Amino acid sequence: MTTLPTDPAANLATLIRCQSVTPTEGGALTSLAEMLNPLGFAVDRQTFSEEGTPDVENLYARLSGNGPHLMFAGHTDVVPVGDEAAWTHPPFSAEIADGMMYGRGAVDMKGGIACFVAAVARHVEQNGPLKGSVSLLITGDEEGPAINGTVKLLEWAAARGEKWDAAIVGEPTNPETLGDMIKIGRRGSISGRLIVHGRQGHAAYPHLADNPVPGIVTLVDALLHPALDEGTAEFQATNLEVTTLDVGNPAVNVIPARAEAAFNIRFNDSWSAENLQAEIEKRLEKAAGSTRLRQGRSEPIVYELIWTGRPSPVFLTRSEKLIEHMGAAVEAITGRRAALSTSGGSSDARFIKDYCPVVEFGLVGKTMHMVDERVALDDLETLTRIYQRFLQDWFV
Ligand SMILES: [Zn+2]
Repeated sequence: MTTLPTDPAANLATLIRCQSVTPTEGGALTSLAEMLNPLGFAVDRQTFSEEGTPDVENLYARLSGNGPHLMFAGHTDVVPVGDEAAWTHPPFSAEIADGMMYGRGAVDMKGGIACFVAAVARHVEQNGPLKGSVSLLITGDEEGPAINGTVKLLEWAAARGEKWDAAIVGEPTNPETLGDMIKIGRRGSISGRLIVHGRQGHAAYPHLADNPVPGIVTLVDALLHPALDEGTAEFQATNLEVTTLDVGNPAVNVIPARAEAAFNIRFNDSWSAENLQAEIEKRLEKAAGSTRLRQGRSEPIVYELIWTGRPSPVFLTRSEKLIEHMGAAVEAITGRRAALSTSGGSSDARFIKDYCPVVEFGLVGKTMHMVDERVALDDLETLTRIYQRFLQDWFV
């Protein structure tokens, strides 16, 4: 008689003890597969490669039944531990103290996986076979470049004919207390670098040189003003953050040859990455002709704009049914109405949204990526009960 993985704390301890610092598998997917096998999941392991990035192992597991198909998505890779000596309890020990389990990945997000597996196990134990299908789509590449992970695993599964009706991402979404927040969308993100080319010279003879500093200031001003928008019904205002401004000139009597700036934009659903890039390009083009800070200069500012990294799209979940089900499960177990939010950074939900509606709900994120990452044992039990309640209501 095999025992089912109904205890989230036991599941989590097993996962924390696997040293799966991204992109290393560290035994985490093997341990997860061992939990899923007795439940009847068909488990597939896929390793994806791409030049210039580390190979990454991923896992797709499906428990099949007649009815709707629910995906649970997450990652077993974790960020590095940082200063190991600073941890109160060793980061891969899963030690428990004062009702808290310590370990890297406790909340981000081995804990979410441990609870979901326990919820499925309890559901099966109490209700028999599922009236539908549950899949786990687990990557080892969320905290890394995110190239050989969720994107390719979704493509691989879809190519085999997998179709999903809804997805839950188990990232830690609650700022303070379990039940605070369900994420129903995410802002998009684009980043760029600006380079202004001048001509080096003596500070006392500016007419013989061309100082790029007034040029970069002019262009950065055009990026920041006016505001890109004032926010939408579901999203906060788009924000452009200038992340660096560099000239690197140590001499007071030299006009530098070049000045650089970099920026990141978190944008809402009034933009797409493409039309936002077009807006930025238009602003720079117009500002390049300004002579306000460059008196006596007739030629436009000479600059380059380089878009860096891949744009991350904005999305909003339109499925009322999925959002209501998750909200109802949270309220039934915690008595709290979770806020529906689109705040924060991006997650793998941005890839899943191309396949099915997706919401995010997991543990309390307060200690994620920190020294002494930890989770309350009570929270593990509560989240398991929330997920189980969701399964019960979803597979009626
Ligand atoms: Zn995470």
